[in-house]
Order: sequence, then C-alpha cells, then structure tokens
Amino acid sequence: NKFVYSFEEGSADLKELLGGKGANLAVMTRLGIPVPPGFIITTEACQAYYKGDTKAISASIVEEYTQHLDKLEATMGKKLGDDQDPLLVSVRSGGAISMPGMMDTILNLGLNSTSVLGLIAQTSNPRFAYDSYRRFVMMFGEVVMGVPSHLFEAALERIKNEKNVTLDTELNAEDFKKLVGEFEEIIQKHTNQPFPQSPMVQLEMSIEAIFKSWNNSRAILYRELNNLKSLSGTAATVQAMVFGNKGETSGTGVCFSRNPSTGENVFYGEYLMNAQGEDVVAGTRTPLSIEALGHQNKALYEELVGYKDKLEQHTTDMQDMEFTIEEGKLWMLQTRSGKRTAAAAVRIAVEMAKEGLIDEKQAVLRVDPAQLDQLLHKQLDPEATKAATVLGKGLPASPGAAVGKIVFDAEEAHKRNEAGEKVILVRVETSPEDLIGMNAAQGVLTTRGGMTSHAAVVARGMGKCCVAGCSDALINEEKKTLTMKGKTLNDGEYITLDGSVGVVYEGRVATIEPELSGYFGELMIMADKFRTLLVKTNADNPKDALTAIKFGAQGIGLCRTEHMFFDASRIQAVREMIVAKDTHSRVKALDKLLPYQEKDFQEIFEALEGKPAIIRLLDPPLHEFLPKDEADIREVAKEVGVTKEELEQTISSLHEFNPMLGFRGCRLGVVYPEISQMQARAIFQAALKVPGCEPWIEIPLVGHLKEYLFLKEVIEKVAVEVGAVAYKIGTMIEVPRAALTADELAPHCDFFSFGTNDLTQMCCGFSRDDADSFLKHYVGKGIYEKDPFQSLDQSGVGRLMEICVAQARAVNPALHIGICGEHGGDPASVEFCHRLGLDEVSCSPYRVPIARLAAAHGAI
Ligand code: ADP
Ligand code: MG
Ligand code: MG
Repeated sequence: NKFVYSFEEGSADLKELLGGKGANLAVMTRLGIPVPPGFIITTEACQAYYKGDTKAISASIVEEYTQHLDKLEATMGKKLGDDQDPLLVSVRSGGAISMPGMMDTILNLGLNSTSVLGLIAQTSNPRFAYDSYRRFVMMFGEVVMGVPSHLFEAALERIKNEKNVTLDTELNAEDFKKLVGEFEEIIQKHTNQPFPQSPMVQLEMSIEAIFKSWNNSRAILYRELNNLKSLSGTAATVQAMVFGNKGETSGTGVCFSRNPSTGENVFYGEYLMNAQGEDVVAGTRTPLSIEALGHQNKALYEELVGYKDKLEQHTTDMQDMEFTIEEGKLWMLQTRSGKRTAAAAVRIAVEMAKEGLIDEKQAVLRVDPAQLDQLLHKQLDPEATKAATVLGKGLPASPGAAVGKIVFDAEEAHKRNEAGEKVILVRVETSPEDLIGMNAAQGVLTTRGGMTSHAAVVARGMGKCCVAGCSDALINEEKKTLTMKGKTLNDGEYITLDGSVGVVYEGRVATIEPELSGYFGELMIMADKFRTLLVKTNADNPKDALTAIKFGAQGIGLCRTEHMFFDASRIQAVREMIVAKDTHSRVKALDKLLPYQEKDFQEIFEALEGKPAIIRLLDPPLHEFLPKDEADIREVAKEVGVTKEELEQTISSLHEFNPMLGFRGCRLGVVYPEISQMQARAIFQAALKVPGCEPWIEIPLVGHLKEYLFLKEVIEKVAVEVGAVAYKIGTMIEVPRAALTADELAPHCDFFSFGTNDLTQMCCGFSRDDADSFLKHYVGKGIYEKDPFQSLDQSGVGRLMEICVAQARAVNPALHIGICGEHGGDPASVEFCHRLGLDEVSCSPYRVPIARLAAAHGAI
C-alpha cells in the first residue's frame, strides 16, 4: 500500500486519498504553476493511525515519507534542519472536503538553535531567521505540544510593551531571539518536556499532530454542522517553505477568482507585505486589497491574474487561492473551489454558463438547492433603513439582514439562542472556538479583520449575515458594552446588521420579503428546462398561494381546510357543530359555516387563475377546536348555548390517549357525513363562480377502500346536486394500509398524494409530537442518518411509497401521484420523488424555488 505521494504523482481525482489541498497542489504543479515542491501523506495513513492500537505512525510509513524527504532535499539542494543551509518545511492538514481553519498547520519546521544560524548565514537576515523561528516554536508548542496560545501571546505582548510598540513588524532580531528562549521555557514548564531540537522528531510529531487534529472538537463540530459524516480523515502535506516575511519585497495573500460575496466576476483578494501564513486571515493587521498589488508590482500582479485565469479555466469553478511572494518571486500555495454565499453561487453559475465555461446543466447542478434558503430570507426594508440610525460601517462580509440582541461571548450566544432569544454575536475578531456562537447567532459583527477574516469566511459558509472589520466600534469586554458613534450599547440591546452593505443600525429595523429576480430568476428558468416534476405549494389562503406562485408554484398541492375553521368569525359555528346533539342541529351549525368556506375557496381559486388546487377535507380531531382551561370553557359554553357541564362532558368524550391515531381524517366524515357534504358543497359552489378553476378534492387518512368509496359517493352526490363539472377526487396516502392496498384504491381515484408526515409516523411508529426526545439521539448515533420527519426515510417509508406507486400504476397508469408535507421541500426527498416517478411535489411557499432546483437536480 502506497501511503506517500509526491506533488508530481497526485491529481484531482485523488481528493479522497490526498485531501483537497494536496490534490490541488498536485494539479497546480502539473499545470506548471510555481508551487514549492513537496509530498503528501495520505488520508489512509491517517485512518491507519487511528486504527492502530499504539496510536503511533507505523515504522513503514515513517520510512516511506523519509524517502520522499530525501528526494525533496535533493530537489531543493538543502537538508532539513541543516546548520549551513537548512531546508524548512510546512506540515499542512486537509481532508477530501475543505474545512477552512478547522485543523492545524505548522510552518518553518526544521528550525532549531543551530539551523537558525544556517538560515542567517544564507539570508544575512537575522531578523527574518528569528521571526521564523519564534513563529515555529509557538505553532509547534500550541499545535503539537498542546500549550495554550495565550501563554505565548502574553510573552509577545510583554516584549512589545517593554519596547513600547504595537506591531510585530516593529520588533527586531534580538527581540525575537529572546522570545524564542521564552517560548521554549514556556513549553518546558507547561509540558515537562523540552522543545525537540531534532528536525526528524519535529516532523514526526507534527504529522501525528495533524492526524490528531482531525478529531479536535472544532473539526468535529464543523463536520457535524456541515453534515460531513462519511469523511475518512486528513492527509498531511509536507512542503518546502517559501517566505513572505523576508522584508518589504515579500508578502502573502489570499484571493478569489470572483467575488465570493456577490459572485461578481472581478478579481478579489487581500494581501500583506512582510507577513507569513495566517497573518492576513488572523485580522491582526488590516490587509490591503489586491488591486493595490497592481500598483505596487504590476508584473507580479499580472502573473497572479494569469494563474487565477488558468485555474478558473482548468477547474471551471470560482477559485479561492493562497499565494506568497518571496523577495519578488510569486509562489502559489493553495487553490480550492471557493466558499460562497448563495447569491454568489447563483450569479457565478449563471454567468459561467453565459460565458460558455460550463453548460446549463452544470450551472444548475452548481447550486445546492438547500443553499437557496439563504436567498429566501428577509432583507432590510429600504424604506425602514432610511429612517434608521446608522451606528457604523464595516465590510459587507456576508449578505442578508440580522436583527438581534447584542451578546459578546460565543457560549453565551449559544445559551441564549437555546432559550429562544435572537442574538447577534459581537466580537473583536472570531476564531474557530466561536463557531458554536456564530451558528447560534442571527448575525455576526466584528471590529477587526478583512473580507477573508475567519468571521467573514465562516459566516459566508453558514449563509449567515456578517459585518466584519467595523473599526468604528469599540468593544469593552469587561463592562460588556459596545460603543459606536459615541453611543454606548449594553449586552442585550438590539442592533440590526445589513451584511450586504456592511452597515450596523441601532435597534430593530423592519425587514421585507425576498424576491425571485435577477440571476436567481435566470437560474430558475434554466432549472425548469430540466425538471419533469410539477412543483406546487401547500397553501391555506390566497396570500400564501400568491407568494408561492411568485416563486413559481404550479398550483396548490395541499390546502388544509381546518386552518380556516380557527378564524375568529367562524370558530363559534365550528363549536356549535361539535356540541350538536343530533344531525339536525349539526347541519344547522354547518349551514352557518357554508358561506364562509365557499368564500375561502372562491378566493383561492381566483388567486390560482386556473391552476389546480388539491383541497383536503377536514382532518384534525375535533377536540382541537374546543377550549382547554376553565375560564374559556365557561365562556364558550355560553356562546354555543350549552351548560358548562355539558361542554365538559363533550370535551371528555372527545378525549383520546392517542389523538393522532384517533377520531380524525376521513373517520370524521364517515361518522358525520354532513361535515364532508358541507365542505364539498362549498368547494363546488365556489368553483362555479370561478370559470376555469380546477378543484381536486382529497380525502385524508384513508386506510380502507370502503372508507374511501363511502365518502366518494357522498361527494359525488353533492356534485350532482350543485351541477359541478370539472373536478377530481383522490386520497392522501398516509396510512400504511392504504399504501399496501393501493391496487384496490387506485382504480377509484384520480390522484394520490403521499402525506409523508403521517406516513412516516405510522410506518416508523414515531409519534410526530413526542419523538424528538429520542430521535436526536438516533440521529447522533447514526441509526437514522437524518431526522425522518425532515428528510424522507428512503429505505423504509420510501420503500413503502415505491410499493404503492408500482401497485397503483399497474392498475391505473394515468393516476396522478404527488407528495405533500415537509418532505416536499427537502432537496434529497424531492430527488427521491423524481426517481420514484411521481408527478408532483408540494411544499411551503418559501421552499418552492428549492424544490424546483432539487427537481432539476433529480432529472439531470
Ligand atoms: P488552512 O487549511 O487553515 O488554510 P494551510 O495549510 O493552508 O491551512 O496553511 C496555513 C497558512 O500557512 C496559509 O496561509 C498558507 O499559505 C501558509 N503556508 C502553508 N505552507 C506554506 C509554505 N510551504 N510556505 C509558505 N507558507 C505556507
Ligand atoms: Mg489554506
Ligand atoms: Mg395527515
């Protein structure tokens, strides 16, 4: 088994094995782009490390990478840690999917008290040599030996204070040399072990630390948050160092081939001269924008633009790159597909298709349907922002709007979010430890750092609004205050962020609904060229229906009539109907409801302008419409004209231990057909008033053919009485028995619609209302990969659907089959429905674009 690959041996299709970073270094090497040479220890070596019971890197792997190191030394003409002319290397982590900043990197490895002299001899630059050395000892101490970084930082601060300077760049060789001594002492004191002088020991310990960092808590959390369960481990890349900290003709930077926030096709990035590694991202010095490099060194800038173009052409995707300039020579250190906001993803996909870089199919596949959710959230109301007080301006690091209470600590943000508060995390800068708080917050505000700072990158990845580097703001950690424009705000006070322009407002600013316009609209048009599933919406009123139509809904896939019953104007009639002692008085109460229902349906049909609507007959158990506490019971009893005792009697007679399996759905209509008659009459009478409308009447919770036939006859009788013309009758498939007897039902139905919420509940035996307490553990333990109420359980519930579809279509090939409920808006479930050959999915209005794109993904 081969565990080590040189850059020349790697390629893009070896990402699993070499990690994304390693594979892409190989790609760049092969494209002839200048990359410092090196080799990659595979993710399989990491797995082997975790499998072994000694938790050590095996001797044979050490032997294999030592051979590669020999070759690297030969290429470079230097030996690792040599006293005369030392080769220095970085050891870099990276799994198959990039997890920016989550794992560790060690730079300048090979330095010790003698090789640092060799470095001075070679460079005649003692300041640079000791700067590199102190960086290495600190990184090694922190990452490999587990010393808390603040101990090193405190020593650094002390020296700066002694010298009365604020920037690292103002320290000299002597200072750094002193610092190295102090750092080594800190390591000794804290770990009871010396800092290892032997370069080969440094190397082995670092590789092991990289492997260990795969399972540090923030990497685990990141994988959890991003659903990256199946990844195998990290690779470790060992690469010759190049130095951006050699003086003013050296530097380091990060750049994107297009704007990762808006997607605009402009070269975008930041850099710092005389800096190394994470200096740009760390936000300790504010970096310059990449255009400035064009003014500073035109030839080098153009060379960089050339590589960016080459890489974008080669990968046909927006690239996120790292580079370092060593004494005027440009080196590329990393490239990967850049993380981007949903807005950027959409624009980049659409524009790349127009440029001919990719075709429309690829463009549609480039955008993750789930990510569109970001674009379907609220934006700040432009009118309201005019009147709002601007507290300050920072960088538009991640778009969207956020309104919440100030909180200064990540843990605290998490706690308050759990308690139901909306918070905004306010920090000087963020680090990977803040992940939990960023995840919990509505938005993130930082006072330091650029567009590629940790806060900005992570927020964009999460689709979370972020204003970064807001230097107008002053945080007092101790007093827990935020001062902006002379105003001091306390912990818990409201602010509003606009991440699209980088503005911070005082208090709560009103928001508006999103729109399907511009690039988003264009992408949807492309998606519609490929999808075959109809996408409809769940809507109980004209307003929701219109919102959904704006997002492209092709009709209503589920109209739940009970929501109309709760309306204040008619709940009394509903209650009279429930307490009625005989059919006569029940019909009297229902007669009062008829005009309301008729009007509801008429308005819905008008909104739909000829698009079909599946209308479900009354579904919930009747007790849901009755009052619960004493006072309400007394009042309602008076309203409906019974005594309090009588009403209590009705309530207790309707009480059920298991209402979800109780007296509901078609069972109501079977026992009280007059309820179904009234609803059918309302639907048909409304339909007559709206020419061209298409009512599809849906009978819920059917398990047995005879239940269905009984109600179908009731409805058809009303249809004849009213003189109804174009209508359909069908059933929801949500009781497993119905799915299993689909061949009996299908000949009598115009349509089926899988009600997968109830179907999941009854198929898996999980109560929708109570299962949360253990389901999260089930998901945590991997028993169910995702919550089956959020994403369809394809092998169980999905299998039942498959059986149902096959049986039904065998006897009624024209049967129209759809799905409604939560799963209709879940991308993975929508793709599954496409494979199953369904005709439609229905979801909530704001998920319609997501379902359209997912349906296209399924079809491509
Ligand atoms: P991450 O995955 O967190 O981005 P990297 O492995 O990319 O970690 O390394 C962190 C920083 O160190 C980056 O800025 C990178 O450019 C820099 N770096 C890594 N290897 C080298 C090297 N051989 N020479 C110079 N800088 C390096
Ligand atoms: Mg990197
Ligand atoms: Mg149901």
